[in-house]
Amino acid sequence: MLCYCYCACNALSRLSDQDWSGHRSREVHHLCTCINEQCAQPRAGTMASSPWWKKLVETPVDLAQAFQRSADATKLDWLVVGGGPCGTCAVGALLQRGGASVGWVSKTPWEAMGWLGDFGEVPANTRNDRLVAAFESVDAFDFAAAQKRRGAAGLAAAPPAATAPLRLSLDALLDASAAMRAGGRLGLARDGVLVHSLVRRDDGWDAECGVGDVVCRATRVLLATGGAPREASPELRAALEARGVFVIDLPLALAPDEATKRAEATIDALACAVRGVRVAVIGGAHSGMLAAKNCAARGADVCVYDLAGEPRYAEERDGWIKRDGTGLKGAVAAWTRTAVGTSIGYETLDAAADPESVAARLAADGAEAIVYAAGFAPAAPPDVFVPGTNTRDYAEDVVQVDFPETAGRRGALYGGSIFGAGLAYPEVWTDPDGDAEPRVGFVGHYLAHLGRIFDAADEAEAPPAKKKKKREKKRARAASDA
Ligand SMILES: Cc1cc2nc3c(=O)[nH]c(=O)nc-3n(C[C@H](O)[C@H](O)[C@H](O)COP(=O)(O)OP(=O)(O)OC[C@H]3O[C@@H](n4cnc5c(N)ncnc54)[C@H](O)[C@@H]3O)c2cc1C
Repeated sequence: MLCYCYCACNALSRLSDQDWSGHRSREVHHLCTCINEQCAQPRAGTMASSPWWKKLVETPVDLAQAFQRSADATKLDWLVVGGGPCGTCAVGALLQRGGASVGWVSKTPWEAMGWLGDFGEVPANTRNDRLVAAFESVDAFDFAAAQKRRGAAGLAAAPPAATAPLRLSLDALLDASAAMRAGGRLGLARDGVLVHSLVRRDDGWDAECGVGDVVCRATRVLLATGGAPREASPELRAALEARGVFVIDLPLALAPDEATKRAEATIDALACAVRGVRVAVIGGAHSGMLAAKNCAARGADVCVYDLAGEPRYAEERDGWIKRDGTGLKGAVAAWTRTAVGTSIGYETLDAAADPESVAARLAADGAEAIVYAAGFAPAAPPDVFVPGTNTRDYAEDVVQVDFPETAGRRGALYGGSIFGAGLAYPEVWTDPDGDAEPRVGFVGHYLAHLGRIFDAADEAEAPPAKKKKKREKKRARAASDA
């Protein structure tokens, strides 16, 4: 029988039934690919009782069909995975460069714009003129025409040196995404597609989304798979609950008006939760301070807890911004400057410490509710399988690849053909003072990072003469950027 199983069975057998719910790609993968004799028997006392295992055994996969789908798959030079701000910038940047066939898929609907769609009311922290310049630099975004349609409500009409609600950037990104998908220039554009695995083939990567279901085959893959806010651990939640402290959802605290609208409620849900309540906000970066601002505006008694003992602000320097990715900016920074020490408290706390001691400290300070705003966690990447690397032992015949946490300047994640950018794989930028920070923030920074990624990918592939030309082109571009 042909080997079509790339499950890491040893790892699977260590998962309890409960663990399965947290391992979506593994469970799907196991369902779809564990179909040969070696994997057909569950290890004793592990998955025999799992509903997933039952389904697997009861629903055999047609191997011939799966291989045929793989052979027939659409062939592309680049596949961009992720329909958020970074994926949108990546597709725009690839179209701008030209010459490559590009495919684009996203798990969430295009209209969601990744994680950002529900946060239109949030104040942006990037200046309008910088956003406009970045949007204008990509022809495929069709920015000028879209802004004309939006008129006075568009980003281009907003005061250049100010910041605006995120809604304006969100609208511009949505317009760009729609223009690129409508332009007939993409080899593939599908939302509602979760790429759960990338399988190495002779001429590229098969992106799979289901039972042997190949979405396409791409020479190179850019993962712009983003992430979601980190949540309080179950242990911390339990320790808080035991002390009568409840947890307020971060999206509600960040964008209370949109949350109220989504729930079709007629009352302000955040106000109901926090009025007259002592609220501890865990995390003092942009999201934490915005949550603090919204809770305070609704009559909560707020104290912010952060590892650092005081707020950190971004600072405009000569041609660059200190703490650009991590410091407070715009309307949230302005509010923080006046509120800390007057209307809200600010304390030092390591929220990653032992949950019992964290909960005890918060309860002793009188907290009745918390908002957990301690950064983002990247989405689980697709599983990456490289069959045939070790033929001695079937179980080891497939290598599952672990990715690094950040993608570096050239975005390389694996083997010169899988790259990462955006919130999931941020570029780590070292400023002129020598301090490093991850660069999360859309359009301008994303485009610059993606440009470096695509340059590096082209360079790695080009024959020597072409390489020289590319280097010259890159130098010319760097000179014009400067
Ligand atoms: C409240 C708030 C305010 C912000 N304000 C600013 C600001 O003012 N300025 C600024 O520069 N930045 C701001 N940011 C940060 C910025 O929004 C993020 O950096 C950006 O949204 C991340 O974009 P992304 O495309 O990397 O990820 P996401 O937006 O998370 O998009 C990831 C996409 O990948 C898809 N996906 C994930 N896994 C798979 C898979 N396996 N298969 C297929 N699809 C997959 C998801 O469905 C989604 O479409 C803000 C963020 C928040 C939350």
